[in-house]
Amino acid sequence: MMDLREKIIYQQIEESLGKLSYLKDIAIGIPAEDIAKLEKNLKEAEDAIVNHKNMIAKNKLTLFEEIFSLIEDKYFSKLTPRQIDLISRSEQRPKTLDYAREVFEDFEEIKGFESNNVDPAMVCGFAKLKGNDVMVIGHEKGGFDEDFRRGGSALPQGNQKAIQAMKLAEKFNIPVVTFVDTPGSWPLEEFLPAQRIAKNLEMQYLLKVPHISVVIGEGGSGGALAIDLCDYRIMLDKAYYSVISISGGAAIIAKDKRHITEDDLDRAAENLRITAKDAYELGVVDKIVEEPKIGVRKSDKDFYPVLKDAIIDGLDIIKSKVSPFFIPGSGSKNSWRLKKYQVPILLRKRKSKYRKIGKYHTNLSDRIKFFFGEIYRIRWIHSIFVPIRKSIDAFIKMKAKEAEGTFLLEASEQPKVLKYEDRWVECPNTTIHGCQDIWVPTLFEEYNGICPNCGYHFRLIIDNYIDLIPDKGTFREFNTGIESINPLNFDGFDEKIRIAKSKTGRKCAMITGYAHINGIPVVMVFTDVRFRAGTLGSAEGEKFYRAIKRAIREKKPLVAVHQSGGARIEEGILALMQMVKTSIAVAMFKQAGGYYISVETDPTMAGVLASYASLGDIILAEPNAQIGFAGIHVIHQTVKQKKPKNYQHAELVMSRGGVDAVVNRNNLKSTISRLLMLRKAKGRECFV
Ligand SMILES: [Zn+2]
Repeated sequence: MMDLREKIIYQQIEESLGKLSYLKDIAIGIPAEDIAKLEKNLKEAEDAIVNHKNMIAKNKLTLFEEIFSLIEDKYFSKLTPRQIDLISRSEQRPKTLDYAREVFEDFEEIKGFESNNVDPAMVCGFAKLKGNDVMVIGHEKGGFDEDFRRGGSALPQGNQKAIQAMKLAEKFNIPVVTFVDTPGSWPLEEFLPAQRIAKNLEMQYLLKVPHISVVIGEGGSGGALAIDLCDYRIMLDKAYYSVISISGGAAIIAKDKRHITEDDLDRAAENLRITAKDAYELGVVDKIVEEPKIGVRKSDKDFYPVLKDAIIDGLDIIKSKVSPFFIPGSGSKNSWRLKKYQVPILLRKRKSKYRKIGKYHTNLSDRIKFFFGEIYRIRWIHSIFVPIRKSIDAFIKMKAKEAEGTFLLEASEQPKVLKYEDRWVECPNTTIHGCQDIWVPTLFEEYNGICPNCGYHFRLIIDNYIDLIPDKGTFREFNTGIESINPLNFDGFDEKIRIAKSKTGRKCAMITGYAHINGIPVVMVFTDVRFRAGTLGSAEGEKFYRAIKRAIREKKPLVAVHQSGGARIEEGILALMQMVKTSIAVAMFKQAGGYYISVETDPTMAGVLASYASLGDIILAEPNAQIGFAGIHVIHQTVKQKKPKNYQHAELVMSRGGVDAVVNRNNLKSTISRLLMLRKAKGRECFV
């Protein structure tokens, strides 16, 4: 018979074995001899207890603990971002289902169980917290024998399931608690991952109940955002949140792209600013919850109450923001329910939370205009300003006529992607359709960049679209002073952004302005792929937001032409948050009755496709434009399947339901204007 003391020692040995295997797991550079010392003591303790030598076993365990705490002090006091990245992915960390069961009472999973599930990588269920009903939703990585959960990479169906659960929470007026733990969304295009994330962003903004999010492990880019547009964000101090994986970031800064070194990985991890501390400093996270020094493990029962308190505090804080008489901590049953009048306040707070995130430069003139724009929104001031504004508008129109477009963007003077060089290009379909080589000036001047034989659409630059879509001389750019910077001091990016500015003559990748399309006044947004691949950064996010505000104010429809590689990696998590900001802007616009036509040209990718580009009321695309969530090599690596060359072509995207129509470039303007006319879109009539 084992006596009680022996039983306790056995338990201690088991716990120590767990700690030891954890150390080996996270492999953060602890020397082998230190690990060997731990192993030796543990082995001796085991041998002793088998022979009922309790005292020796106890001594050995004490020694084990002493060595362990030395290791803790030496190697865990100051962790590098790469070490945090390793810890965040440890098998022994608690996962969503652990928190669901340990932090809450009565957790009941709904919408599928284990592998019998639309998407086992996303779990959701009702639970109780401090006597209140809540909806718990999160990425679930599962254990080592649960491959069916794909390591927490949710499918679009899983993200849809999360939204359905949020809507259910809304029905019962109970708060939503989400747990973020994903390396990213599953990148197969068949079910439209990017478009689903965009939809999730829009719908989360409109959610009429408090939403608190906890980043518990991996905060992988768009996949995280799919359930993370919240009112209050908690992050564990050994979790990460990033726009791209460290290896992806390293590929960007590596000198030799074929041989990524350890140094490249370290630098990428530093530069991307992925830690909780960074996210807090950048205004993305509201509270950091400290884990045990070596990182939290499933068996750390003391940690769950700590997180529980943080979640309760967070929900109290959200409630107190919409209800001035609510005292945090005073909560009783149903204390987080909202009254009807509190919902618009919640949405307004949510909007302004994301509005503030991002760093860019702006000039004085834009700041003054912005200031007046803000004042103009106030109703009584509005009534004073209307006559003044009308006369200013009339003056501008008069001057515009006089100037014959001199202050319009000089589109045709901009260089083309394929310059008007005296050379011939080969159509990519030559071998299939036997197309003849085309002389470059003829291709762009006569054929609009379309192969006359097979209809292949060569990539245009955005200036060509500014020539092509608005009526001649009607495009008037606004918010020209907003300028991209290097907000994270990303290595070498100052120079890259300087080159982008001098090459394009622009301050950021986005161009916004007023235009007429066959006489219909619209607000237009263009993205220039030549400026840092047309990526979405803080400046672009702000410009888009302001364009939307103008469109709402002046009740004009929005036509946006996209040409972008995605979110701007060098702006890290700030770029990620621009996806939220732009999606909120579109949701606001639609709420106000606005009508948005989105045009996806070659290329429309990743973060841009996973936000505002996919939120158009109508989405048009150009033939053979590349439209997708991830780069094709990322897809090959992740899903281990080879995909055809046209896998992300507009035609296939349309067949999957991601695009409403693929429109020949020659018909683009007439199609847009027809769609605007259908809504009798003359100025105000375009609004509902
Ligand atoms: Zn051709």
